Amino acid sequence: MNFDALFNAQLDALKEEGNYRYFAELERKCGKFPLCSNHVDGEQRDVTVWCSNDYLGMGQNQMVIDAMCEAVKRTGTGAGGTRNISGTNHDHLLLEAELADLHNKEAALLFTSGYVSNWAALSTLGSRLENCVILSDAGNHASMIEGIRHSRADKVLWKHNDVADLEAKLQALPANVPKIVAFESVYSMDGDIAPIRDIVEVAEKYGAMTYLDEVHGVGLYGPRGGGVAEQEGLMDRITLIEGTLGKAFGVVGGYITGSAALCDFIRSFASGFIFTTALPPAVAAAAKASIAHLKQSDTERMKQREQVKKLRDGLDRAGIPHMMNDSHIVPVMIKDPVKTKMLADYLMDEWGIYVQPINYPTVPKGTERLRFTPSPLHSDEDIAHLLRALTTLWKQCAIAHAVA
Ligand SMILES: *Cc1c(COP(=O)(O)O)cnc(C)c1O
Repeated sequence: MNFDALFNAQLDALKEEGNYRYFAELERKCGKFPLCSNHVDGEQRDVTVWCSNDYLGMGQNQMVIDAMCEAVKRTGTGAGGTRNISGTNHDHLLLEAELADLHNKEAALLFTSGYVSNWAALSTLGSRLENCVILSDAGNHASMIEGIRHSRADKVLWKHNDVADLEAKLQALPANVPKIVAFESVYSMDGDIAPIRDIVEVAEKYGAMTYLDEVHGVGLYGPRGGGVAEQEGLMDRITLIEGTLGKAFGVVGGYITGSAALCDFIRSFASGFIFTTALPPAVAAAAKASIAHLKQSDTERMKQREQVKKLRDGLDRAGIPHMMNDSHIVPVMIKDPVKTKMLADYLMDEWGIYVQPINYPTVPKGTERLRFTPSPLHSDEDIAHLLRALTTLWKQCAIAHAVA
């Protein structure tokens, strides 16, 4: 059997519909964020990255770098094993204590990524709580969807951010089955924010536990960077808060926080926690330094907000439609995969601006977009340059301008 022919047939279909993914080959330049070197056909040129999830540039923060280098010299490169078999390092426990404190919880548990933390926690909860029903927001991330699927628990989808629909679905369930309401704070593609207070209140009314993915909120919202739930004063009312160390904290890894019993339960039963090598201690040390810094510094968050506002105002002045939301994410809808890719190519080739075209299945077909994430390190000149580029392209491509 010619397997490559089978693979290529499906890849060709992707290319046909414009949904084939091309990765930009970048080389990050320490101290130059958001500037990167782009490698194309053996050549390199500088580009400004406009779609990084290193939202605050903490991945190039000197304190974070120093913490990682110090820990590598002290402990070496890898953890040396799974958490159970010789891999639990002192730095992991220090980081878990830092995370528990960040979210004002009894305990925290580290995973190798945010994806794994969602997958492992939801699949363990859903499979081990008898008759459990998971009520999942329709906009939830793939890692939550896969965790729920793997758990084989009953899943009830509720309309995105629609608390009335959530309540109707909770009401329809038997009173005595364990229920988990799973949702995110900031949805990464539209940048909209969940009505967390209303969700928590409905969940409490029906005795459901709340599972909140704060991946796009941690480091960025709340007085100490504890996320949107911290900003709203709601952390104590959420059963489980999940986050990543790979986005605003600028390193890599994922975690959950909650009661000591909850974390011990996941630690004891989650395959995705148990059967994999622990994160390098140096990664833990760097993440801890990043979190500790953002707990006591608002400077990065405030500057980021300023730059986000400048970009939005500039887009408004240029008549370029962008999605309104209360977050740091600025989506510009193109609504066609081929056009989105074409625009992104022009921006990269002609203007030295890198923004990845966002297509299916990351977003639904017909909602393809460019997604800009201004950071505190994008200068006013970077923003002006981006606006000049977009204005020029909008004219060239005759894309419909915003109507009132
Ligand atoms: C990126 C993302 C994750 C996964 O986090 P990683 O640390 O990148 O694996 C989980 N949830 C949401 C909503 C995300 O956007």
